[in-house]
Amino acid sequence: MTDLLTTIITSPVAKKAGVPQPTPLRRYEPGAPVCEGPVLVTGTGPYAAQLREWAGQLGLGLAVAPVEGAGTADPTAGATSLNAPNEKVGAIVVDLSDATDPGDLAVLRTVAPSVKRLRPNGRVVVVGTDPAGLSDPAHVATQRALEGFVRSLGKELRAGATANHVLVRGEAWDGLRSAVEFFLSGRSAYVDGQVVRVNDAGGANSDILRPLEGKVALVTGAARGIGAEIAAVLARDGATIVAVDVPAAGESLARVANEIRGTALHLDVTSPDAGARMLEHTRSRYGRLDIVVHNAGITRDKLFVNMDESRWDSVLQVNLRSILRMNEAILRDDGLGEGGRMVCLASIAGIAGNRGQTNYGASKAGVIGLVTSTAAQVRDRGITVNAVAPGFIETDMTARIPFATREIGRRMNSLQQGGLPRDVAEAIAWLVQPGAAAVTGQVVRVCGQSLLGA
Ligand code: NAD
Repeated sequence: MTDLLTTIITSPVAKKAGVPQPTPLRRYEPGAPVCEGPVLVTGTGPYAAQLREWAGQLGLGLAVAPVEGAGTADPTAGATSLNAPNEKVGAIVVDLSDATDPGDLAVLRTVAPSVKRLRPNGRVVVVGTDPAGLSDPAHVATQRALEGFVRSLGKELRAGATANHVLVRGEAWDGLRSAVEFFLSGRSAYVDGQVVRVNDAGGANSDILRPLEGKVALVTGAARGIGAEIAAVLARDGATIVAVDVPAAGESLARVANEIRGTALHLDVTSPDAGARMLEHTRSRYGRLDIVVHNAGITRDKLFVNMDESRWDSVLQVNLRSILRMNEAILRDDGLGEGGRMVCLASIAGIAGNRGQTNYGASKAGVIGLVTSTAAQVRDRGITVNAVAPGFIETDMTARIPFATREIGRRMNSLQQGGLPRDVAEAIAWLVQPGAAAVTGQVVRVCGQSLLGA
């Protein structure tokens, strides 16, 4: 989708005048390497050696940092030395999960020369320990400092490169590997400046090309926009799809379902029996339900002082109450089974707030509350519940935003462009993988590190 401003700023005249150009993002292609190598794995933490071995197994090639310093030595023979002129690095992973004192953060500075060598669309991932599980003030402060570092570095990187942070809690190697793979890959093209926590729940390795093989996934609001793309991406990754949307969207819903050989279910998510009907449909057709993506959502914007009851109620009903009600049925014993996955669509408006969206912001903040509390309730059953909070994504919903507001929303992020529905879908496709069992109760923003909110 090319907008007027993109046409202007990417014109030859604008390029000649030095107007900053948005970089085409590297997006996931099945079968392609996780990222362009080589990968520099450094830091003093206990996972560095395992991460190096894992990157080697993936055939990414390893790099050795161009300066001497703590944690920069790489014992692997055949690694690319970044001392050589013109050598580039595809990704940098720094494990500082053992850092306990602010002095330990000096290791970060040794990485700076390598950051200069980062390829376009390169990646920086910093591994830390979840401060929520710590008590010593210096230890907590040091680990928390990593978050500030990552978020700031994300704002400095250019040319489609991103910086993200993984926090481990307990014996979290499986979860760490899954999260690092996501952040290095093109699945995270529009995820920048984010923090993801991984716990000790493990997570089975699955088929690289079809990690969702044999799973049945239900996606609401699937007739168009982000929902249609979620359905397509989950189907590409091996899942059988039940695509849900309102009866009025019948034709486009049928098209989406046919293209991916799924089934269409026409229902309004606000109807009292929506959850029961979804279960009945999936059980009678496929005998199981493994993945639920609560994507259906609406906006009815108005300044709060002019907000009428219908705008307020409809947004709260569709975006929030319907999920609570459907979950009563879906999360009952015979609904979503052991190892199930649920992802809800939140929004940065639910984190940062947005003018004219008191109803929408309230509903999406409510979704985040619902996700964190439900995740805790079902954790013992091996079910994960997460939220994905998109920033500015190019869809019919954002095409309706007034021109000036739309252009600001589209540009005000570290990647200087809007995201695609596919970027949201890829983040969801990762969260519902068997390998992501260690990620639950999280909010992953797919916003290019929007300047709105944290
Ligand atoms: P969209 O308007 O393009 O599509 C939403 C779909 O939901 C439509 O097919 C619609 O028919 C369906 N739907 C609406 N009410 C329904 C109901 N009662 N029952 C069943 N289906 C219903 O929206 P989108 O941009 O694709 O957004 C998808 C989700 O992502 C929404 O939850 C939205 O709030 C969220 N989101 C979008 C953006 C963005 O930039 N587009 C940003 C943040 C969050």
